[in-house]
Amino acid sequence: MSQGNCPHAALSFLISTIAPAVLPIAIAICACYPSVAAAQEFGPSNPFYAPSPLPFHAPPFDKIKDEDYQPAIEAGIAQSEAEYKAIAENPEAPTFDNTIVAMEKTGQLLDRATSAFFGVAGANIDDTIQKVRGIVAPKLAALEDSVYLNPKLFSRVETIYKQRATLKLDPEALRLVERDYDHFVHGGANLSESDKVQLRKINEELSTLSSTFDDKLLAATKAGAYVTIDKAMLAGLSDGRIAAAAASAKDRKVEGFVLPLQNTTQQPDLASLSNRATRQAIFENSWSRAEHGDANDTRDTIARMAQLRAQKAKLLGFPSFAAWKLEDQMAKTPEAALKFMDAIVPAATGKAAREAKDIQDVIDAQHGGFQLQPWDWQLYSEQVRKARYDLDDAQVKPYFELNNVLENGVFYAATQLYGITFKERHDIPVYHPDVRVFEVMDSNGQHLALFYCDYFKRDSKSGGAWMSEFVHQSRLMGDSPVVYNVANLPKPAAGEPALISFDDVTTMFHEFGHALHGMFSNAVYPGLAGTSTARDFVEFPSQFNEHWATYPSIFAHYARHYKTGALMPADLVAKIQKAKTFNKGYAMTELLAAAELDMQWHFLAPDAPLQNPDDFEKQALEKTHLNVSYVPPRYRSSYFEHIWGNDYSAGYYAYLWTQMLADDGYQWFTEHGGLTRANGDRFRQMVLSRGSTEELSKMYKDWRGADPNTKAMLKNRGLE
Ligand SMILES: [Zn+2]
Repeated sequence: MSQGNCPHAALSFLISTIAPAVLPIAIAICACYPSVAAAQEFGPSNPFYAPSPLPFHAPPFDKIKDEDYQPAIEAGIAQSEAEYKAIAENPEAPTFDNTIVAMEKTGQLLDRATSAFFGVAGANIDDTIQKVRGIVAPKLAALEDSVYLNPKLFSRVETIYKQRATLKLDPEALRLVERDYDHFVHGGANLSESDKVQLRKINEELSTLSSTFDDKLLAATKAGAYVTIDKAMLAGLSDGRIAAAAASAKDRKVEGFVLPLQNTTQQPDLASLSNRATRQAIFENSWSRAEHGDANDTRDTIARMAQLRAQKAKLLGFPSFAAWKLEDQMAKTPEAALKFMDAIVPAATGKAAREAKDIQDVIDAQHGGFQLQPWDWQLYSEQVRKARYDLDDAQVKPYFELNNVLENGVFYAATQLYGITFKERHDIPVYHPDVRVFEVMDSNGQHLALFYCDYFKRDSKSGGAWMSEFVHQSRLMGDSPVVYNVANLPKPAAGEPALISFDDVTTMFHEFGHALHGMFSNAVYPGLAGTSTARDFVEFPSQFNEHWATYPSIFAHYARHYKTGALMPADLVAKIQKAKTFNKGYAMTELLAAAELDMQWHFLAPDAPLQNPDDFEKQALEKTHLNVSYVPPRYRSSYFEHIWGNDYSAGYYAYLWTQMLADDGYQWFTEHGGLTRANGDRFRQMVLSRGSTEELSKMYKDWRGADPNTKAMLKNRGLE
């Protein structure tokens, strides 16, 4: 499943909220502050010193060395501080241009350096990058505080905010003023000086803890790999998978076979491993990866983070961290998000219970003599699927060769809907040989964006799949977007084709939906551009784009046998269509369980003591009727990267909320003739190009003609 697998935009989100920018005099300002230690090491020889000379300001990865990042980021922070100081202390009366627009223009150097840095930290980390991340994370958090807790700057923004009705601003400019003001208040600008000091302390500790969590989890996930020298333990895996396991062992310089862990609780190989002891061992490696009481144990870290977040919310005047976090979201309150989830729980767990019974029947018919456990689910549900739909992953995968899926499926769908075309560029440097770069042309033949894709799993990559940007779109700066997708699809042995599952196909469409949201952005101000929307909106374009993977004319165009080029036979297609609601009870329940865990952690009272994560987790699942023995949460608290390492805290429900938007939105296409250029252009114009330039529930309603509801979502997933 790709749903819930996408800690979208990761850490660069933090930076883009400060406002990315281009300011030609930036370097000169930086040079005025030689007291900053890093400035001594930072000069014209650093590849971030000046804007990239490459086409579309693509990062010069052929020139960037690991040791270039820290001085560039530190100089970028100093430069940003100086720029904000100049705005705050401007003797002229505050105006939209000298304050709001000026803030949008800050941080050019910092943005170039951090965009490349966090891209590489996510997709190709090494010891140096990891060390630098630990050093710069608290400094970046402190910069954010120095902006949002600066009383002079806030006073200027507040003045403009109060005058906004008389300033004759266009709607996007007005939206920017209101959003900036809300950000300041949300970030603590109205606090007393002593409370601001306390908030800064909490934010810095949280940022350090978040970095610590990331480091521990990466090590824990790597150490949690299943290792065996006995090939018989791998019975059931394909020859290709066994060869890949042998190659992983060779990479790690160990004997035998290595099956690395994915970031989710369930592991894909459990669908084919016939040895129950192997399945149980892999599942337990996954489930307890970060709970061994060793240096990689994350439990103390997350307990402290939950406590600090609750204290932060109290300081800001909110009853819980969740209440504070949802204030600027489409759902607006945790109560609205909970009401939405609670209403789906009975339908989801009811369907999961029926699925469990079908599976237990298969186990019993085979005289298995055991009760269904989580490590059995995928293997036997695959058998139920074969029996019921006669559909076998091994039968399907030869029709999904990765490059063909990309060019004749993902790209083709975008061409049909929006008229855009793609040309591979071999002249743009990349940070790893697996990365490919495409130039994207608009329907009129003009340049639109650069698109990088990096699909294969490796140990230096964080788990899951995501999209982010090296350059943000902005008409103010004249920048076109440079966007990337990263995933963890199984890498074939050398010379073998990359044959992927239909779930992996869905992941590619999903991430490309985010990419389109970034590439179609047509905002003036970078702070409102592209994917810089609320979390409970940002997964809408991506999940919506998944729908085109099974649209008949698209599917027929890419689902071709990798050897013969033959179309997938009609009966197999019919089976895939029919199997679409299969296992959706499990999928929805594991997502709900993770989303409820997230919400419960962030409902903690500010005076609550440090929690024992295992006890807390058990109680939280019981309380929300999601303690289903055979459906563990998609992520356990101790390895829930989205909420401790990324910005999805009190926001994981957004995956479900945006499923509602995606299915309800796709329903509009169904009602209006499906895949047509007119429908695509209308969606692009009214939604995908708009970023956050207007209020999101209004934007949705204007395009859809109504508020969203769960009808299409429950129907599509067979949960009615
Ligand atoms: Zn996503």
